[in-house]
Amino acid sequence: MIIGSGPAGYTAAIYAARANMHPVLIDGPQQGGQLTTTTEVENFPGYPDGVDPFTMMDDMRRQAERFGTQFVSGIVTKVDLGCAPKRVWIDDSADPIEADTVIIATGASAKYLGLESERTYRGRGVSACATCDGFFYRKKTVAVVGGGDTACEEANYLAGLCEKVYMIVRKPYLRASQIMQERVLNNPKIEVLFEHNTLQLTGEGKVQGADLVFRKGEPDEAVRHIAIDGFFLAIGHHPNTDLFKDFVARDAEGYILTEGDSPRTNVPGVFAAGDCADPHYRQAIVAAASGCKAAIEADKYLKSL
Ligand code: NDP
Repeated sequence: MIIGSGPAGYTAAIYAARANMHPVLIDGPQQGGQLTTTTEVENFPGYPDGVDPFTMMDDMRRQAERFGTQFVSGIVTKVDLGCAPKRVWIDDSADPIEADTVIIATGASAKYLGLESERTYRGRGVSACATCDGFFYRKKTVAVVGGGDTACEEANYLAGLCEKVYMIVRKPYLRASQIMQERVLNNPKIEVLFEHNTLQLTGEGKVQGADLVFRKGEPDEAVRHIAIDGFFLAIGHHPNTDLFKDFVARDAEGYILTEGDSPRTNVPGVFAAGDCADPHYRQAIVAAASGCKAAIEADKYLKSL
């Protein structure tokens, strides 16, 4: 059984189906996964002209289907991975689906600020991945929200492409490691706006600006407007692994721990692939590769039974 329909899940399904493992793939809440929140994919090898993420994920799905993957639409609401076979309940069903081995490919969700305007402009100037979408903002002005390592890394990356990068940081200091802070503070294209929070995004059909508040609640509180073309969230990700917490070992942030560079978890026969076990790279190609590894490991496990 494969839980999740992003690049990791579909790749695992292609390999598992071709190895005659009869995979069942549970779609989860967002068919196609996190990639479908972006506008265009230009960095996945094999698509020289770029590809719409829905088309790409649909291609992967059809490829998995061609070799016999069964798809179940629904959300996994409960699991029992401590028994054999392992059991998974969909949409609070009374009867579980059973499987000899489970590949968890539930991904991670980027955190957003929760502003209404952020939802309005998602995919139209709002992004949670500079590596994915930065290219579309060449020679433009963008803002990155957050003051951690990811925000600094994304701001530096964007500064290599954009005319100007604002960093919107809610505290009077950056939380990132010293070296990342220095890179940001020494980059003439980056302006760090400390003690600023975003009130709303503005624009005609796409992001064209942001209203910020400086030192909210303090005597010197002030509202200012910045003109921007892109608004990048870098305030952390949440791995979608809470459902498995009673069975598989996770790190302090909830990412599933795997053995070395393999997708093996602490539970025999349970593997983790993609962003649910990867706090570092978060790229579709990396997730796809780990789905492949998980299917190969699942095959070895099934043969050992
Ligand atoms: P972090 O949790 O480290 O940082 C999140 C940042 O977002 C903080 O500055 C936080 O502010 C800010 N933030 C959170 N919520 C809000 C909000 N609602 N409004 C405004 N700002 C907000 O997450 P990262 O993704 O940066 O890093 C996660 C882990 O991965 C860390 O351990 C990091 O070191 C590591 N990492 C390492 C890299 C490397 O070594 N090259 C690269 C990327 C990540 P505040 O400080 O006020 O809480």
